[in-house]
Amino acid sequence: MDIILLGPPGSGKGTQAKMIADKYKVKHISTGDILRENVRNGTPLGNEAKKFMDAGQLVPDALLVDIIKDRLAKPDVKGGWMLDGYPRTIPQAEALEKILPALGQKIDVVLNIDVPDAELVNRLSGRRMCKCGVSYHLQFNPPKVAGKCDACGGELYHRSDDQAEAIMKRLDAYHKQTQPLIDYYTKKGIIATINGAGDIKAIFGDITKVLDKI
Ligand code: ADP
Ligand code: ADP
Ligand code: ZN
Repeated sequence: MDIILLGPPGSGKGTQAKMIADKYKVKHISTGDILRENVRNGTPLGNEAKKFMDAGQLVPDALLVDIIKDRLAKPDVKGGWMLDGYPRTIPQAEALEKILPALGQKIDVVLNIDVPDAELVNRLSGRRMCKCGVSYHLQFNPPKVAGKCDACGGELYHRSDDQAEAIMKRLDAYHKQTQPLIDYYTKKGIIATINGAGDIKAIFGDITKVLDKI
């Protein structure tokens, strides 16, 4: 099964992705995690991407297309994948469509997670992340031990782009550049919209209802 997770920053893509990957045995591919790892390691890609990420802007399409092309060609995704944070623009979606046939892959479903902007601001400002990719929230989803990751024991940190100014810019980028993908995938008849407000486990329940039919 090959799945795309679509939704604004803070909609819970990463949180739901961990549970989906466990249950359906699909490989979780987060372009945000890949970029942050490159930034941490000071690679040429990381150095180029960092200025856009810190400014709350999308990283140029060409860099993302290269990342996805490489990642989807690796053998560990043959059993199914879930893209979290890609595509984020129409050109990225079009590039993906060109890549997939040669790999013998196709998108089964686009899960569109819908959350109002006001809630996204609260979620992002209270988000704390671990290097392993798991995210927590100071109030809504706290770790068992303050400041430590439940999954790996790592130190939690506040993302430099989860600050008020960058959050507003990212929401703006979402509405202008990413939201048009809802129409794009609706026309292709492969989108399922999930109400992303409410209890984390209840939302996962709604997602399983969609995925169990595939
Ligand atoms: P969020 O939690 O806001 O959904 P991500 O962790 O997915 O954020 O991405 C963090 C940042 O990495 C984005 O704000 C953007 O700068 C960059 N990024 C990630 N994926 C993409 C993409 N597909 N296209 C362009 N930029 C991306
Ligand atoms: P995304 O990957 O879409 O940017 P995350 O999964 O990182 O989003 O979630 C953003 C923040 O909101 C995190 O702090 C997370 O713990 C919290 N969160 C996720 N789902 C919910 C929910 N249903 N209700 C409240 N907070 C949530
Ligand atoms: Zn961790």
